[in-house]
Amino acid sequence: MSGYRHRENLGSDIDLPVGKVVCVGRNYLDHIRELNNEVPKAPLLFIKPSMALVNLDQAITLPEHQGEVHHELEISLLINRRLTKASAETCLGAIAGVGLGLDLTLRDVQSVLKEKGQPWEVAKGFDGACPLSPFVDVSAFADLQDIDFSLSKNKQLQQQGNSRFMIHSIADLLSAMSHCFTLLPGDVVLTGTPAGVSALHSGDVLQLSLQDRYQWSVVVA
Ligand code: ZN
Repeated sequence: MSGYRHRENLGSDIDLPVGKVVCVGRNYLDHIRELNNEVPKAPLLFIKPSMALVNLDQAITLPEHQGEVHHELEISLLINRRLTKASAETCLGAIAGVGLGLDLTLRDVQSVLKEKGQPWEVAKGFDGACPLSPFVDVSAFADLQDIDFSLSKNKQLQQQGNSRFMIHSIADLLSAMSHCFTLLPGDVVLTGTPAGVSALHSGDVLQLSLQDRYQWSVVVA
């Protein structure tokens, strides 16, 4: 048990259950290019189970003997209303908080799965595969499509993005997700990674930054 709880930035727990994580692959062009992937017409969706979640104040534990584990820094959204086949506008009203998440990916395992046309879950859904920062109340963000975020590894800037470069906007993405899977209060959505993904190693120190106002750091065990 990771003992994960949704937390707000000031430190207290948020009174929502811990649900699934719905993610999108390939939502930023620069990252699509770095992995030589095709630009998808519809968002490429996948799910991480609830046991993938860990709070960012715990050291990151990497799976062993399965090849490289990459960080993918992504804007995370905490959902507080049930969304089934919902409009983009309804979806925008269902976001409680905004934070940062790491879509940890067993890249060598995923490459083999992709080659064979097989599902990605074992590469992306393992226990601890989704460290999450606390959530900042959505009211702190004037424009969800203008959020800066970045990740430094061992003091070197590794990933830097802004939500304005998303292929599918947050509202459209949530609506598309809700047409495939009902989103429930306490579910988390990850919105895709910009370029700069790289392998993690024991002892790495990661610094995550949201809008230059909110910063969190975490060590790789
Ligand atoms: Zn990702």
